[in-house]
Amino acid sequence: MKKIIILGATGSIGTSACDIVRTHPDDFKVVALAVRSNRAGVEKLAAEFGAKAYCGEDSAARAVAENDADIVLVSTVGLSGLAPTLKAIEKGMDVALATKEVMVAAGELVTNLAREHGVKIIPVDSEHSAIFQCLQENCAINAHWNRCVRRLILTASGGPFLDGPNDLSGVTPAQALNHPRWKMGPKVTVDSSTMMNKGFEILEARWLFDVPADRIDVVVHPESVVHSLVEFEDGATLAQLSPPDMRVPIQYAFTWPERRPAVRAKLDLPALGALTFRAPDENRFPALKLVKEAAQAGGTRTAVLSAADEIAVDRFLKGEIKYTDIVPLVRAAVERAPEIACDSIARVLEADSWARSFAASH
Ligand code: MG
Repeated sequence: MKKIIILGATGSIGTSACDIVRTHPDDFKVVALAVRSNRAGVEKLAAEFGAKAYCGEDSAARAVAENDADIVLVSTVGLSGLAPTLKAIEKGMDVALATKEVMVAAGELVTNLAREHGVKIIPVDSEHSAIFQCLQENCAINAHWNRCVRRLILTASGGPFLDGPNDLSGVTPAQALNHPRWKMGPKVTVDSSTMMNKGFEILEARWLFDVPADRIDVVVHPESVVHSLVEFEDGATLAQLSPPDMRVPIQYAFTWPERRPAVRAKLDLPALGALTFRAPDENRFPALKLVKEAAQAGGTRTAVLSAADEIAVDRFLKGEIKYTDIVPLVRAAVERAPEIACDSIARVLEADSWARSFAASH
């Protein structure tokens, strides 16, 4: 039986994770649950699972510090996942990582520490789980760049504005929050619509699989059935397919290296008929180019990217800036950020708070 700590227990990923534990009571035991503000929600879950409940600003860090588990599911919002992730690694607990900002902002720091402590970072994001599944038996998890891989290919649904409107400047928060395939929190849904989310996933893959960002490509695949692909040096390409349901990658993160049965919608290929793919339009979605530039610059530039985007999206949702101001505001922050190395949590937080105040005041 694997013991699990769930951080961000009442969010979209946390709720699905609880579902998986409910259907596999002999395989998993939840020992602690943490949330930022939903006290009633977390106490209800804690009573159901016989686990400890944590609520408040430092709840995730406390849940990790005060409990021992085989896996810590990090599905908090944004950089608040960083400190508990580092704490879990220091305690030698494997991390199932859903909060991509942890890798975007501090991938270098997190992966170095994980290597040092022999801890595995298991992907939960559907694309990265797909790559992870394709890499089984081909490459060791979190290993150094493996020469058998030529390229990682992340699929993107393209979001609600793939085919229109032509002019995105009048897009409202309600339109940006209307994702065609996935039900997710508001920040990641807006990030999906700008493709900033896909950019973050390039960085996440870069650190999870130790693959340089220039060997990670994005292909638009509106059906969201192929979750990502790995192209190998011998000319073979492997893909992972399933209906869009986050419980598939979450469960795999919990059961890896094994699989467990689950009652889920099956893939009906004849009903699907065709799967389509196209290149992303980088003029329409300038976030992809910006992310690659930030990755190239290295250091804490990507921490600035992540924090500035969080503020920019928040300001858009509050009606303070236009939809088409989001990415240019983030770009301005990345270009004007001071050079800070990504070698300690203090420096990551310094870059993060610089970016937040820049994006709030420009
Ligand atoms: Mg994803």
